[in-house]
Amino acid sequence: MFSYRHAFHAGNHADVLKHAVLVHLLQYMSRKEAALYVVDTHAGSGWYRLDSDYAQKSAESKDGIARLWKLPEGQIKSSLLSDYVSLIRILNPDGKLIFYPGSPWISHRLLRKQDRLRLFELHPTDQKILTENVAELRAGRQITVQAIDGFDGLKAQLPPPSRRGLVLIDPSYEIKTDYARVAQAIADSLKRFATGTYAVWYPIIALRESQQLPEQLSKLAGAQNKSWLNVSLTVRTASIEQRGLVSSGLFLINPPYTLKAALQEAMPELVEILGQDRGAGFELTSA
Ligand code: SAM
Repeated sequence: MFSYRHAFHAGNHADVLKHAVLVHLLQYMSRKEAALYVVDTHAGSGWYRLDSDYAQKSAESKDGIARLWKLPEGQIKSSLLSDYVSLIRILNPDGKLIFYPGSPWISHRLLRKQDRLRLFELHPTDQKILTENVAELRAGRQITVQAIDGFDGLKAQLPPPSRRGLVLIDPSYEIKTDYARVAQAIADSLKRFATGTYAVWYPIIALRESQQLPEQLSKLAGAQNKSWLNVSLTVRTASIEQRGLVSSGLFLINPPYTLKAALQEAMPELVEILGQDRGAGFELTSA
């Protein structure tokens, strides 16, 4: 436990998929005036420097955000991807890609004054950095950071007072039990707050728990007659010689009706930009 630091992975292909969808969710959900509650159960440290020792060591952003960044402005055709890149440009106004936003920064940037952001982070170092980073935003009580288990913390947040909420569950899956805890958290949350929008990120790896998670989540959503959408991205053929994550997915419950069409447009383009060999591709299913 606690060997995972998101700084090693910031801006990789999995972050690109997750954060591009997060931007779309927040843009859509802030169209209505009523306050929106965003709960980020596994927040990380808020944002990252891609020139830090951590990020440089793995250089994962080179095959992630850096590939989109170096495209001339206006060349990205899909709005889901171009809106995401535009947001990252705000964080890097000099035109050089130095900062990469984590989910807390993205949520903060897109929330309005009536909205609230509830962050959970358990790693002692990342929790400290997150608290310092959030203090810099001068958001007052709009954003809270709690150094407690995000799965446990989520319970007390639901349902949100405004009955409008987005929950991002983005564990590091360092421990196998995270998969079961995600499914349990969704089952429990749907009982407390059936109309919430839920986004669960998961790695696609050679592990039974990982492969079963989307089906488990679709059953939980189906049992409550909730709509769902599952999108996954593979950037190359998995091989023993080349280590590292090649595939990840995002499972959404009660997604905005606009998301499917936005992804149908964006995913072929994303595969074209991030794909490294003929094994690259995407899947999009929904019900
Ligand atoms: N959501 C972040 C983003 O998109 O920028 C990235 C989060 S990273 C994948 C997962 C984070 O969860 C790590 O920072 C890890 O320390 C933290 N973590 C692991 N187990 C946790 C738990 N049970 N509760 C809260 N945080 C946890």
